[in-house]
Amino acid sequence: MCDFTKVYYGCGHYRLLVRAWCTQYVQSQGTNRCGVTVVAENHSGGNTCGSECIHRR
Ligand SMILES: [Zn+2]
Ligand SMILES: [Zn+2]
Repeated sequence: MCDFTKVYYGCGHYRLLVRAWCTQYVQSQGTNRCGVTVVAENHSGGNTCGSECIHRR
């Protein structure tokens, strides 16, 4: 399982940012889909999740 940080945005969406790939995933050279383990959560202030976000102000 790979470690991810869950980032919450002001628009209500969240994204999973990779924190560390596990050795199993690295050895498969990215071809093997791996499970997600959320190891931390962050809040990104009032930012939206991206320029294409429909809740953009
Ligand atoms: Zn993994
Ligand atoms: Zn959004």
